[in-house]
Amino acid sequence: MYIRVNPRDNVAIAVEPEGLTPGTTEAGGLVVRERIPQAHKIALRPIAAGEPILRYGEVIGYASRDILPGSWVREELVEMPAARPLDELPLATAVPAAPPPLDGYTFEGYANPDGSVGTRNLLGIGTTVQCVAPTVDYAVGRIRTELLPRFPNVDGAVAVTHSYGCGVAIDAPGAAIPIRTLRHIALHANLAADPLMVSLGCEKLQPARLFAASEPPTGQRPESLPILDASNVIRLQDERGFSEMVAAILRAAEKRLERLNRRRRTTCPASDLVVGLQCGGSDAFSGVTANPAVGFAADLLVRAGATVLFSEITEVRDAVHLLTPRAATPDVARALIQEMRWYDEYLARGGADRSANTTPGNKRGGLANIVEKALGSVAKAGSTALCAVASHGEKVTSKGLVFAATPASDFICGTGQLASMNLHVFTTGEGSPYGLALVPVVKVSSRTALAEKWPDLIDLDAGRIATGQATIEEVGWELFRFILAAASGRQTWAEHWGLANAMAPFNPGPVT
Ligand code: CA
Repeated sequence: MYIRVNPRDNVAIAVEPEGLTPGTTEAGGLVVRERIPQAHKIALRPIAAGEPILRYGEVIGYASRDILPGSWVREELVEMPAARPLDELPLATAVPAAPPPLDGYTFEGYANPDGSVGTRNLLGIGTTVQCVAPTVDYAVGRIRTELLPRFPNVDGAVAVTHSYGCGVAIDAPGAAIPIRTLRHIALHANLAADPLMVSLGCEKLQPARLFAASEPPTGQRPESLPILDASNVIRLQDERGFSEMVAAILRAAEKRLERLNRRRRTTCPASDLVVGLQCGGSDAFSGVTANPAVGFAADLLVRAGATVLFSEITEVRDAVHLLTPRAATPDVARALIQEMRWYDEYLARGGADRSANTTPGNKRGGLANIVEKALGSVAKAGSTALCAVASHGEKVTSKGLVFAATPASDFICGTGQLASMNLHVFTTGEGSPYGLALVPVVKVSSRTALAEKWPDLIDLDAGRIATGQATIEEVGWELFRFILAAASGRQTWAEHWGLANAMAPFNPGPVT
């Protein structure tokens, strides 16, 4: 059994876990010529050397030699096409009509004074610099055991630590990206949009600098910046000894916990959701099961008035020609192209290009190259108009489908999306026990074998689409309902185990 995505395709992917067996006859009389592992590609027709290899109805490469029908189209038989030029793309030429609104869907969230809505009620202790991270980790350990049991309405305490803040060229243009990322995370909706920070004292990223509005806001809503004083910033160099540092953090945390503990969930429209989408450890099934189901759920969220973020520049670059026509306006298309161009140049400065994206796991999972991976990855973006583009670490304020620029790296993408999102959806084929401390992460598997191998990590199995047990629409609706439940407090597996990957703000600037 195989799956062909588009009638134009001259390759399809093997469905069965044990792969395709030589000598067996498939649909349409196609005889399998050799063993083809699950998720890998079978040639449906003769493909002459130099001819295009088509999947998703798009060119994923050119045959490096003649390929007979029924043979395994291995990675080395697929020559990767050059990156598409960015200056001749269609701009807003096929804008999808606004889909019918989806009314009446709600979740139970925490409304914040700045208009954002939390899906969790967390005490977060932010940091301006890595130097203070172990001290904050220690203090948060004590908060969890000594304070948190007295505040049952608070979902948890988090040390919001990261690797940035000093030893960097803080005035270099690239520094704006990690700084605004950390600013928006400190003001996160799940931290009541109210920062509590620990600073060292001598670091380059001073609290006042972190919260200075260094650029005009790009969205409609101006950023609300906090007033910094002794109630929300603790400077460790002002304290006498380690135990006083910890005592100062615990005192501030206790006051904050009293406030957080008085909060209650209220019914909020689904339009208050900001859902970040990401894939990690993708395989050739990701683009036909998990990502299209996520795309269907993304359409439902957009119809319900929510914000949906897709990201991962190197996984959008080779599908950009499918997205610029969908941009709501030529300016939105140009903003998308600008993000691609900037990243092309960033990679070139490092002596790399987009082909550096694919991993050994991707290849083992049947993905020949980044073109094939990208065409499957953008299925997460569904079918609605692209409404806005946000650059790295910017806070998204628009509704609808938004491209929020981030690298594809799982933990850097997740950190970048945390600038805006209050819930995260992560699709995986090879499997990753990924999680984030600040938001629920809903994990969707691209094949049933992974969901069965990891029943205590995967929240939703989209592999049923490949075997015909469920449709893309059915899994899409399941995911939509799961998202509303998770936003209302239902624990995801990652939360159950307390899995939280390190924060890794994207820093394209120099380190000193
Ligand atoms: Ca990723």
